[in-house]
Amino acid sequence: MAIPFRRTSKLAKRKRRTHFKLNAPTMVVCPNCGELTLSHQVCKKCGFYKGKLVVEPKPEKTEKSDKKDEK
Ligand SMILES: [Zn+2]
Repeated sequence: MAIPFRRTSKLAKRKRRTHFKLNAPTMVVCPNCGELTLSHQVCKKCGFYKGKLVVEPKPEKTEKSDKKDEK
């Protein structure tokens, strides 16, 4: 396997990494409950997609109820 001839400079490294960035997911307002959801995906809050109930919505969890579920 080839070995780099020189160490990559800080500048070259940083220039390369200027393209490493996160982009925000496309969010849409759910027509059923008005919550922001990911587009083309079932609403996590109400479980609706394309105006139909697809998944039964889970009851809203608090930190305490999460711990109870784990045990
Ligand atoms: Zn919804």
